[in-house]
Amino acid sequence: MSSADNRRNVRAGYRNGGATVEGLIQNVDFSHPSLNDSLEGEIQAFLINEDQLHTYDDLTKVNPVTPTTVLKCLQARYSVKVFYTHAGCTLVALNPFQPVPDLYSLDVMKEYHYASQPQEFKPHIFIVAEEAYRNVQGQLEPVNQSLVVSGESGAGKTWTSRCLMKYYATVAASSSVMKSQDTVERIERRVLDSNPIMEAFGNACTLRNNNSSRFGKYIQLQLDRCQLLVGASVQTYLLEKTRVTCQPANERNFHIFYQMMKGATDQQRKEWMMSQDQCFAWLPNSEKTVEEDCFDETVEAMVHLGIHAERQQQIFRILAGILQLGNVSFSSSTDESQTCHLSEQSEDFLQRAAELLCVPAEELQTCLRVRTLKAGKQNVLKPCSQAECSVRRDCLAKLIYAQLFEWIVTFINNSICADKSTWCNFIGVLDVYGFECFQINNLEQLCINYANEKLQQHFVAHYLRAQQEEYVSEGLQWSFVKYQDNQSCLDLIEGSPISVFSLLNEESRLNRASDAKMFRVRLEKELSDNGNISWDKFSKVPHFTVAHYAGRVNYQIEGMVEKNKDPVPAELINLFEKSDNPLLQEIFADKKTENPTNRGLSKVTVVSKFKNSLENLMKILHTTTPHYTRCIKPNPDCKPLTFKKEEVIMQLEACGIVETIHISAAGFPIRIPFQSFMKRYGLIAKYSKLRSQCVDLEADNNDALQQEVKKLLGVALHHLSSDRHSSLVHCGKTKVFLTQAMLDLLEDQRKKI
Ligand code: ATP
Ligand code: MG
Repeated sequence: MSSADNRRNVRAGYRNGGATVEGLIQNVDFSHPSLNDSLEGEIQAFLINEDQLHTYDDLTKVNPVTPTTVLKCLQARYSVKVFYTHAGCTLVALNPFQPVPDLYSLDVMKEYHYASQPQEFKPHIFIVAEEAYRNVQGQLEPVNQSLVVSGESGAGKTWTSRCLMKYYATVAASSSVMKSQDTVERIERRVLDSNPIMEAFGNACTLRNNNSSRFGKYIQLQLDRCQLLVGASVQTYLLEKTRVTCQPANERNFHIFYQMMKGATDQQRKEWMMSQDQCFAWLPNSEKTVEEDCFDETVEAMVHLGIHAERQQQIFRILAGILQLGNVSFSSSTDESQTCHLSEQSEDFLQRAAELLCVPAEELQTCLRVRTLKAGKQNVLKPCSQAECSVRRDCLAKLIYAQLFEWIVTFINNSICADKSTWCNFIGVLDVYGFECFQINNLEQLCINYANEKLQQHFVAHYLRAQQEEYVSEGLQWSFVKYQDNQSCLDLIEGSPISVFSLLNEESRLNRASDAKMFRVRLEKELSDNGNISWDKFSKVPHFTVAHYAGRVNYQIEGMVEKNKDPVPAELINLFEKSDNPLLQEIFADKKTENPTNRGLSKVTVVSKFKNSLENLMKILHTTTPHYTRCIKPNPDCKPLTFKKEEVIMQLEACGIVETIHISAAGFPIRIPFQSFMKRYGLIAKYSKLRSQCVDLEADNNDALQQEVKKLLGVALHHLSSDRHSSLVHCGKTKVFLTQAMLDLLEDQRKKI
């Protein structure tokens, strides 16, 4: 057992061990169907004032653990402004939605860092941080660590990740890593500066969060032999590039565009051709100011990371070019040629876009309006319809933005990644999108939910291992716990030979006109045996439903194959690799190597690329000791200190806390130390007709206690068939492990005395 697991057990199990039965049962939720009426009255006598609920710093102390008891406990804590609670090997973090003075100060960091037993302190994200830090340090053979932060949009994942990074940049700071140039600051500073840049380019204001991350991120903080932070590397996942050209109602584009609009100097405005009163079609809700509209901070971070002024200019000109492109609209001609026209205004916008993107305007216009088809050795030019022109325009903008984002991430990595010879261990922080279920779900949600299934499987495996270790240390057979994992759902999505992904990829490669229809037909035909997928044949919008561990999600079929193909017209790549903007040249040259077919179809589909990067992530996670933090959004409106039960319970379900409860219920969810057990149930044996089994209530050492507990259990169970005994109760080395049914039975017998 690792020392982290040891510590976790101290927190989860053994602390329980010190509690009294009264303490253990105090939070029983009597509305829960598993508790019968007779039990209710009896245990109620032991109820401690509900005012004490907030003092429970570990949800495993709430016994038995049910969604409702967990909810009550969290609510009680939130109402007294306690935002962190342990849940066994997981930390639950409730978002306060308001600054909490002094909760994250330098003094608090020091307190947790220098404590001999930080886990004895109040639950805090710094306990998790410190535990991981000591785990790397304290092992004979150091083990890399992963901090997995999950939760729904607005729950506080990015906030928590930043907090973790700040913790390490403080406690693991190396003062010797001063670089000579003025512009290049200390490595800790540069690692932290990667945040505002990535957030400016990858975050946006959505209905659910003013600073919503539209990509997933795994950052590895690299530590040297002395545990000092010497560098970091970032891996990003699935940027929501459609947001560049299409913003959902009342949402915004990526922050960086608004930052430029608000923060540019007059000179810059001129250079970027964006006057103050200019309206951009792709920049809705500009009037809404969010805290993240801070251009200066982004530019400052760019400077710290070494993105020099000339490069910055190239970046901002590209972004300005994208905005101009968004104002170009096409109208279909009435004559027979069926070609599209640009209005006079659109001609101006196209001219400016071409100037900013440093390509000839005429060629740009041709690329958007005319498709080049290969017929034998000849090229045939085919004018595009109005809709096709718009698709090509959007495709270009999304491509440029996604490539730019990738370039920035690579640049950041080059700037903060330490030389392999200088670091030996890492602590990884994973900030990924939580489970998503909207009115309309498409490929993005399928990928996101697939990632969550993978992470859930990893979590369950880890949690079961931790449980197994406790059972083994208490002398229980692990085979007692039967639990159905989510493998069948993963098989449905990614399995081989036939799965949703494999069919999607096949249809994408076949590239036939009726691919959506064919995809639907094949799904129904080839996956009908899988219990995790279903269809509503009468639905107007064709979709399939996947039963995920966190709930059922309907996925719209229309557009899925096309999104998976993510086609890029080859003419556009050819044009932009000749751009006079050196940065565009660079990023399009990269795209060309990835896309050599010249047919506009990428070699790699969206799902195969995503699956690949996720598999790499899982490989890394498997080699590390994981620590889970589940962020919870207590209300949908981001209101300070407001706790909505229905919201929270749904998230507990979606982030796996309830699932964890089910797993624990599959074994022996109730664990009572011998002494407490004897105190409450000893009288059952005393008043039993089986006088020979009369137990010694005063037994004072563990072995004697264990003997007496066994006798007592014998009395309590003597009328049951022996087969059932082992499935109801097990006597461990220091405590009794019980099922709910056994607790009911004991309570019934106790009542009869
Ligand atoms: P998304 O999936 O949309 O990216 P997220 O889980 O990353 O969401 P955050 O951006 O981290 O959510 O948090 C949303 C907001 O909640 C933050 O901007 C901040 O205002 C507030 N917040 C989160 N955690 C805390 C905290 N511990 N203390 C104070 N405010 C917080
Ligand atoms: Mg986020």
